[in-house]
Amino acid sequence: MTPTPSLKRRREEIQANEPSNDPPNFKQSEDFWLEDGNIILRCGATGFRVNRGVLSLHSTVLKDMFTMGQPGAGDQMFEGCAVVTLHDEAEDMCLLLKMLHFRRFGRKLQEFRLETLHSLLRIARKYMVDELQEEIVDYLKLMFPSELAIYLSPTRIEAMCQDFNPMLGVEIAVEFDIQVLLPSALYMSACLPLRSQLDGFNNSDGTLVKPLPHVLRSILFFQENMQVWIDEEIEYGGWFEISTCDHAGCRGIDHHTVSKIYRWYHGLRNDVLALDSDLIRPGRSACHRCVSRLEEDDKDYRFELWGQLPRFHFLDDTTWDDVCRNAGIQRA
Ligand SMILES: [Zn+2]
Repeated sequence: MTPTPSLKRRREEIQANEPSNDPPNFKQSEDFWLEDGNIILRCGATGFRVNRGVLSLHSTVLKDMFTMGQPGAGDQMFEGCAVVTLHDEAEDMCLLLKMLHFRRFGRKLQEFRLETLHSLLRIARKYMVDELQEEIVDYLKLMFPSELAIYLSPTRIEAMCQDFNPMLGVEIAVEFDIQVLLPSALYMSACLPLRSQLDGFNNSDGTLVKPLPHVLRSILFFQENMQVWIDEEIEYGGWFEISTCDHAGCRGIDHHTVSKIYRWYHGLRNDVLALDSDLIRPGRSACHRCVSRLEEDDKDYRFELWGQLPRFHFLDDTTWDDVCRNAGIQRA
């Protein structure tokens, strides 16, 4: 007969008062073995003695699990604490516990590898640690922004993780259905050399992880759509036209300058949105008016291309406004 909950609880209480002689099937975590901990979370071969109350404050899932005594509370006891077995990597759990306990730990998310943030987001989502999830997603929105100005901003460049790889960004966006990250993550992935796209990204242990087939497919699909758009715009869009100028000493916008700009924008696997100060330089013979006309054109063209990014992935007429509205983001 299965013991009734009250009998089971009584059995736990009895066991809690008696030191267990059974050798534990885990080793005590060096980072988390709190003297006054009242529950042990076992992940693989590692046990974390922690405080139910503290974890319950952060995680609805753990709170419910502790309240209901499921799964497994009371099935195993060690030093008076119930041992709860969780199917997470010990390394991920340790990271999550550190984030929840140490105020200074992980304040700068860029100090983590993107790969680590991926695991952290996964475990934060699983246990519904909402604040941490929001924090990571906000950071990802800075890495994979919906505004061109943010994409080009030094703030974003400075906040990049060391192992930043946009393909991993695509993978995260797809796995957690954070669609607002996709257009810029796909754009950046489309700019990578083919070899990098096929080989994937470096793991912390130095091994190469190939992109998932559906991720690679999305990248190549996006790249093709972008290339078609660029080809058509450069050919028929009326951008960067050759022109003469009546200003004294100015030879206007010559063929050489225009073809240099065309080559840049045609270039597959260039980050064509990145500012290149050498691009708009028609030579000494052009007057201020001609140079600023080129600069205006260049600014508008980048803006137009950026505006198209959602379409290259979602097709139809999806705009940034649509993508942001769905994500609850107000655009500037
Ligand atoms: Zn001129």
